[in-house]
Amino acid sequence: MTVTLPAAATSKETKPCTPLPSSYYTERLSDVSAGRKPSPIWDLLPVEDTPGMLSMLAGKPNPATFPFKYIHLGVRSPTDKTKIEEIAIEGKDLDAALQYGVTTGFTELVDWVRDMMAQVHGRDPDSEAWRVSLGPGSQDLLYKAMNALVNPGDTVIVEGPTYPGVTPIMAALSCQYAVVDVDDQGAIATDMEKMLANWDRSVKPFPKVFYTIPFGCNPSGVTTSYARRIQLLEIARKYDIIILEDDPYYFLYYGKAPKPPSYFTLEKQLGGEVGRVLRFDSFSKVLAAGFRLGWITGPSTLVAAIERHNSCSVVQPSSLTQAVTLPLLKQWKISGFLAHTVATASFYRQRRDAFEACLNRHLADLAEWTVPEASMFFWLKLRLPPTVRCQNLGSPGEEDEGDSAAFIRDKAMHRGVLLLPGANAYVDDRSTARVRVSFSLLSDEQMEEAVRRLAEVLREESTS
Ligand code: PMP
Repeated sequence: MTVTLPAAATSKETKPCTPLPSSYYTERLSDVSAGRKPSPIWDLLPVEDTPGMLSMLAGKPNPATFPFKYIHLGVRSPTDKTKIEEIAIEGKDLDAALQYGVTTGFTELVDWVRDMMAQVHGRDPDSEAWRVSLGPGSQDLLYKAMNALVNPGDTVIVEGPTYPGVTPIMAALSCQYAVVDVDDQGAIATDMEKMLANWDRSVKPFPKVFYTIPFGCNPSGVTTSYARRIQLLEIARKYDIIILEDDPYYFLYYGKAPKPPSYFTLEKQLGGEVGRVLRFDSFSKVLAAGFRLGWITGPSTLVAAIERHNSCSVVQPSSLTQAVTLPLLKQWKISGFLAHTVATASFYRQRRDAFEACLNRHLADLAEWTVPEASMFFWLKLRLPPTVRCQNLGSPGEEDEGDSAAFIRDKAMHRGVLLLPGANAYVDDRSTARVRVSFSLLSDEQMEEAVRRLAEVLREESTS
C-alpha cells in the first residue's frame, strides 16, 4: 500500500496543537494507580533545595561516615575514541553521588535530558504539557506505565512479534491482548483499523493503549516507516488510544532512508491534539546498560503517576549512576552526545553488515530474514528439519512451520550455538520457526563460526 504523506508531516511549519487536558489521563488511570498516595517524605524532598531551608526531613545518612573519597573517570571523547578525558567526582558532587536524591532524578540531569529531547524531537522546550522523569531503566518504567494504565483484564494492543521482556509484565498484570501483525513497514495499520472498527466490547474491553517499538524492534528488527507511523497515529487518535512508544533503539538507526520521526515528534508535526504519546528512552544502549538509567517523556499527569509508583518502590534512580552520567553529558553537551550516538549507530551498521554477510554465506537456503536498519537483531525464519516441524497444529499463518524452541533446546545448544526462540515474542501459545539473533557482541570470527554451526546443525538434521 502506498501512502501520501500529509503536507503537515513533510513541511517544516508546525500546525497549531492542543494538549489533551489533565482529566483525560486521570480518567484513564488504573484503579491501583488512581489510589496510589504520594510518599510523605519523598514528595517533600525537593523543598530541601529552597535557599535558606534548614532540613530535618529525611533520614539521610551523613556522608562523612562513608568510605569513598573520590571517583575518577576516564571517558572516551565522542569524536576521537583514542582521546581519554578525565572527570573527577568529589566534594559536593561526591556527596550527591552517595546520597538519596529526588524521585524524578537529579534536577540538572533531568533538565539536560529535557533540552535534548526538545531539540531531537522538535518539541517546545517551554511547554508545560510534557515533561521528563528518570528511572532505573526503561524496563522498570514500562512496567510502571502499564501498571498505571491497565486494570486486570484490560486489553493492550501489541505488535506480533513484540518485545519478549514486556510480555511477562502484561501477564503479571493479567492483561488481555490484541495482536497486530508486523510486516517490513511496521505494525499493519489496515489490520489494526479493521480490528478496532469491528471490536466486540462484550468479549473484551476496548483497548486503551498500543505498545510499540518503532525503531529496530526487538525482536523483529523492523523500523516502522514514516507513512505507517502516520497511519497508526491517526488510528490511535480516531479510536482514542494512548501510544506507549518504547524506543531504546532510537539512537541506533543506521538505515539509508532519512530517519523517520518519533511518534512524539509526529503528533506535534501533524497538529491537532498532543499528549497521546508516552515515550520510553534509555541510556542502556548508548552509555552503559549496567547503569540502569532510562527516562519517560510525555504528558505531565501520566509521568506523575509513574513517579508516585517510583517513590514507593525504588525511591529514585541510582544517585551514583546519575552522578557519573551528569558530568559526562555536561562536558559533551547535546552536540557531543549526538555525535557519540551517530558513531554508535555506525558501529552497529558495520556489525549488521558483517553478520548479514555470514548469513548469506551459510544460511541462504536454510533461513529467511529481512535486513534490519536499526538496533542489533535479525529475526530469522529457520527452515527447520522435519523432526521439529508439524508441532504447531492450529496456530496461525506463516508461523506454522516448526518449533524453534525445541530445535534450540534439543539441537543447536548442543552444538554450542545459542539463540532466542521466537515463541517468546508472541503473546499467544504459538510455536514458530523464528529465532531472534543478536549480532552485537560477537567478533567477525565468532559470527562466522556461530552461523556456520547453525547451518551445519540445520543441514544435518534435515538430511538425517
Ligand atoms: N524495551 C526494549 C524493546 C528493549 O529491547 C529493552 C532492552 N533489551 C528495554 C526496553 C529495556 O531497556 P533498559 O535497559 O533501559 O531497561
